[in-house]
Amino acid sequence: MTLTTHATLGALIGKATGNPVLAFFGGFLSHLLIDMIPHGDTGMSDNFRVHKTRQTRAVAYVVVDAIVAILFVLVIANTRDIDSVRTFTWGIIGGVLPDLLVGLYEITKTPLLKWFNIVHFFFHDFFVKRRGDVPLYYALLAQVVLIAYLQTKL
Ligand SMILES: [Zn+2]
Repeated sequence: MTLTTHATLGALIGKATGNPVLAFFGGFLSHLLIDMIPHGDTGMSDNFRVHKTRQTRAVAYVVVDAIVAILFVLVIANTRDIDSVRTFTWGIIGGVLPDLLVGLYEITKTPLLKWFNIVHFFFHDFFVKRRGDVPLYYALLAQVVLIAYLQTKL
């Protein structure tokens, strides 16, 4: 999923829990679970990580994804009366952290993160490796609709 989807869901879980620790772990768990829904990025991810082709496209996608997520969180934080900035923040941190760890593993190949990389892609690839992925364009449109709905609950 996009980082904006993970951040929005994390923020919502933060609000629902009302507790920063639960917000963090709830956000983290939500990342792994929602990543199980096929969301169109498996081809790009495999090209980048496995086949080592069209890597510039994957990097550009991640940069755009990250900047959009930052801007979205800033807009929400500056236009809403957030009940608890602490749970809002820790929910988002938990929500996006798995992809940061995967990215750090991709850069460093450290054994410290290898296990987590395996866990992440166990969830991420659970259905797409059995039933195939969906077109990225449709997956992004679906996420825009999902985010538009979820942000009304923040
Ligand atoms: Zn992920």
